[in-house]
Amino acid sequence: MEIPFVDLRAQYRQIQGEVDPAVLAVMQRGDFVLGGAVAEFERAFADYCGVKYCVGVDSGYSALEMIVRAYDIGPGDEVITAANTFIATVLAISNAGATPVLVDCDPETYNIDVTKIEAAITPRTKAIMPVHLYGQVADMDAILAIARKHNLYVFEDAAQASGARYKARTAGSLGHAAAFSFYPGKNLGAYGDGGAVTTNDPDVAEKVRLLRNIGQKVKYFHEIKGFNHRLDTMQAAVLGVKLPYLDGWNASRRRAAATYADLLADLPLVTPAAADDAEHIFHLYVVRVADREALMDHLKSKGIATGLHYPIPIHLQPAYAELGYKRGDFPVTEEYAELIVSLPIFPELDDDKVAYVADAIREHMAARGVAEKLPEAMAAD
Ligand SMILES: *Cc1c(COP(=O)(O)O)cnc(C)c1O
Repeated sequence: MEIPFVDLRAQYRQIQGEVDPAVLAVMQRGDFVLGGAVAEFERAFADYCGVKYCVGVDSGYSALEMIVRAYDIGPGDEVITAANTFIATVLAISNAGATPVLVDCDPETYNIDVTKIEAAITPRTKAIMPVHLYGQVADMDAILAIARKHNLYVFEDAAQASGARYKARTAGSLGHAAAFSFYPGKNLGAYGDGGAVTTNDPDVAEKVRLLRNIGQKVKYFHEIKGFNHRLDTMQAAVLGVKLPYLDGWNASRRRAAATYADLLADLPLVTPAAADDAEHIFHLYVVRVADREALMDHLKSKGIATGLHYPIPIHLQPAYAELGYKRGDFPVTEEYAELIVSLPIFPELDDDKVAYVADAIREHMAARGVAEKLPEAMAAD
C-alpha cells in the first residue's frame, strides 16, 4: 500500500463534476481579475466564519502581512507570536517593518503558551498573533483577556484552521482580524495559491481591499500605496465549489485522528492533545517520538510518507539571526522540534489506511524493542 502525506487527486475526483464547469465558466465570462467568483466566495466565506467581511488575497502570507499593514503596525512596533510557527507568520510581521517577538509553545497543545505572553509585552507591543497550529484554535479567551488588559490587537493566523471551532465560534471570528491560507494542501485548498482576511471592522476590510489592489478602489485613482495581492478569480471559483464540503472533510479528518489515537494509545509516542472547548480539525496529525528518523525510515519502507512541521525553529534560522535569540530561549519549541513527526492525514484517509500506518508504527516499535515508557523529557507535564 502507498500512503501519501496528502492526496489532492482523490478530492478532485470527488468534486470534478462541479469544479470543472466552475473554472470553465470563469474562462467563458472572461472576468479573470477580481471577477464575480471572488466576490461570491468572499460573501460565502464571511458567512461561514461568522464575520461581516472577507477579503480574498493571493496567499496566507499576504493575508497576514496585509493585516499588519492595515492596522498601521510597522517600524518600531512589536508583534508577539508563537516560536514554533511556520515562517510565513513571522515574515509577515518583519516584512511589514515591525519586530516579531516570539513566545514558546504550550507543551500539551503546541499553541502559544498563554502563561508566557505577558512577560513578552513591552511599551512597543501592538498586537498578539496567535497561530491555530496544526488545526487547533489557540487559547483565545486567555489571549483576548491579556490583549484587553494591555490594549493590544489580536490577529489570528488561521492558515491551518479553516473551519476549526472554539466554544461554538469559528476560527477567523475570534480576534480583530484573521488570515487564512488556501494553499492546496490546507484544509480548504485552492488549485494554486490563495488566502483571505476576515474581520468585523469595515475600515480594516476597506484598507485590505485597497492594499491588495494597488491602492485603488476606482481604476487609476490611488488612495494609498498598495500591492498586487488579489485572489485569482479561478481560485475563487474552485474555493466556492469546495467550501460547502469543508465541514464534512474536517469531520473525516477528525475521525481519522480519533482512529489514530485509538490504535496508537498503548505505544511509546505522544498523540495530539485536545484542548478544552476547541474542535481540532487536524490540518496535521503531529506525534512526538524518540528517534523519529528511524521511525520515518521504517514508514517510508512501507510506502508511508511523513512530514516535519517544523524541523528548525525560527529563532535558530539564519534569516532571523537579527532578532538576537539563542538556543535555549524557547525550550519546549526546541525540544519538540527534535521529537515531532507528522503522520499522513487527509479526508480520504479511511480507517484501513490509518490501521496500516498504525500497524507499521507498532511493528517498528516491536522490532526495536522500544521501551514501553516514554523518556522523561517527552512527557508533557
Ligand atoms: C500555510 C501557512 C501560512 C502561509 O500560507 P501561504 O498561503 O502558504 O502563504 C501562514 N501561517 C501558517 C501557520 C501556515 O501554515
